Amino acid sequence: MEFKSQKLYHQLPRVTAAPTQWERRGPNLIAIETSIAYAEAGGQLADRGVISQNGKKVTFLDTQKAGLGRCIIRQDFPILHADQEIQLRLAEDLGPEWDELRPIDVQIDVPNRAALSRSHTAAHLLFIAAQQKFGELAGRVKGCRIESDKGRFDLIIQKTDPNTLSELAAVVHQWVEADYAIQLRFLPDEPECRHWLANGIRIPCGGTHLESTRPVGRVSISRRSKGPHLERLAYQLHDPLPPEVVAYYDSALQNEPNQAS
Ligand SMILES: [Zn+2]
Repeated sequence: MEFKSQKLYHQLPRVTAAPTQWERRGPNLIAIETSIAYAEAGGQLADRGVISQNGKKVTFLDTQKAGLGRCIIRQDFPILHADQEIQLRLAEDLGPEWDELRPIDVQIDVPNRAALSRSHTAAHLLFIAAQQKFGELAGRVKGCRIESDKGRFDLIIQKTDPNTLSELAAVVHQWVEADYAIQLRFLPDEPECRHWLANGIRIPCGGTHLESTRPVGRVSISRRSKGPHLERLAYQLHDPLPPEVVAYYDSALQNEPNQAS
């Protein structure tokens, strides 16, 4: 039966390993009932890591949501799908010695998570800078991709020039220098509707983030035309991942209260 997988990565954002019930979905594909691994969404690439059971280990390369789940449509939030099944794609076929009646442990690749969280935070800073320059961008984002050390938005905006890129970079730099605290909240009546908050700005976001803006470090911004009114704004991170960003992720299972907006 299809799972409505619980997103442990939202409930326990610092935890990096957790057990779960599971079922086979293919030779190298499994479904998990609760997921400590971030499933690709909103452009942020997925967690990868290792599953284990009774001394056996297999690497997983990708974490994805499957099925339509429940569609949430409300005026105060972009349309999204919730309660989907989360699946792990494995690096090799799973042998019959893996017992489906017993839980597996899922352990994520911590530096990869830390880097994706930092990159997602950088993406928000570029979005804020672009919104300051071009006005409200809701409905004008045609694509978004967040990788570990770079990312991009495809936006319906006027053609940008080097001056505009310098202006955007200056705003991002100011946010990094100010080291604004970041909070992730959810709507009290719908925990799937999540917001990112920093310095008075609120952005709908289902991703993972840093605790503040400074560890983003140095960022450069470039552009590419994707059509007459479609610009691709890309960012590149230039500093190594600070140790405190990796240390934020703590493998000990701990209960952190989630905060409603
Ligand atoms: Zn986001």
